[in-house]
Amino acid sequence: MTAPWTYPDFDDHEGVHLFRDAASGLTAVIALHSTHLGPGAGGARFWHYADPADAITDALRLSRGMSFKNAMAGLPMGGGKAVILADPRRTKTPEMLAAFGRAVDSLGGRYVTAEDVGMSDADMVEIAKTTRHVSGLPVTAGSAGGDPGPTTAKGVYLGVRAAIARGLGKADPRGVHVAIQGVGSVGGGLARLLAADGAKLTLSDVDSRRAGALAGELGAAAVPAGEILGIEADVLSPCALGAILDERSIAALKTGIVAGGANNQLASPADADRIHARGILYAPDYVINAGGIINVALEYLGQGDRAEVETRVARIPERLDAIWSESAASGVPAALVADRMAMRLIGRA
Ligand code: NAD
Repeated sequence: MTAPWTYPDFDDHEGVHLFRDAASGLTAVIALHSTHLGPGAGGARFWHYADPADAITDALRLSRGMSFKNAMAGLPMGGGKAVILADPRRTKTPEMLAAFGRAVDSLGGRYVTAEDVGMSDADMVEIAKTTRHVSGLPVTAGSAGGDPGPTTAKGVYLGVRAAIARGLGKADPRGVHVAIQGVGSVGGGLARLLAADGAKLTLSDVDSRRAGALAGELGAAAVPAGEILGIEADVLSPCALGAILDERSIAALKTGIVAGGANNQLASPADADRIHARGILYAPDYVINAGGIINVALEYLGQGDRAEVETRVARIPERLDAIWSESAASGVPAALVADRMAMRLIGRA
């Protein structure tokens, strides 16, 4: 029998937990998709939702994504995600974070939290006062862990290089034109690494001053946020929001490669076919952007140092290559090949 409730994103999740702490004002959802490979690991998102049902949908979708991401990164971790429902002013207090830590703790280690949108390493320090099932804490130099953004950027950079090698037959990005959507922690880090290689960059951000400043620093071009998806370039690297690749945007793409760090880039499963049908080389998002979770998972597990993180992140290109080879051989879209590999790994083939 299929599940009798009306959440289309429910995918036989092991558990969906709702928390309310009236004293601190905490309202949170923790979704555990799979603990087949280990504790469900995935960050906590702090966001204001006009409709609270959307928070549950987000937790369902993002926790499933974490199952796939952790499995494909070769981590002994399952998939989980937390969403804290913020008020419109995004009020966040130590009491609320303490209550969230108790909520995490009540799951007895089946869920491990970290930063996501709206949460910082300082917040993780507060949460760590009431649970030990937390990662992404500030760390000393040379250790695994801390802010996942720079490590995610490094993995995306290596993935973009792999895509350039495969799609353009070029050993390095010198002179290759890369358009980056969103120049925050991930996109900004990627831009710096590619600029050092001599790539030609076009940057955009809804914060146009941010894009302009970085473009000035790196000798890159900047375009308004509304133009980046239609730029004629070699590579489009989405590093801002999810769901940006849909029927309309895919039809208008003028790049042969899409490889970027944003989560959930495809608006719907049909978009995997659309991008494949256009002959665009696509790097499945949760494979290329796994650097950050590798960093915080090794911190939580106490397995290895910064050098071990780098070694594991350096394996992202070979995973992408395996996916692209299977996609080329079978004619199955790369995004679907990745999903099937991940489902096998979590015992759901
Ligand atoms: P961030 O907040 O540091 O940066 C995001 C940037 O995108 C901001 O500068 C913002 O102004 C810009 N932006 C928002 N909407 C935009 C739009 N429509 N067009 C252009 N720019 C826009 O976030 P981040 O940590 O760099 O994360 C970026 C993406 O990567 C997100 O999808 C995130 O889920 C994903 N991701 C991040 C990590 C990580 O370790 N930080 C790990 C995996 C995936």
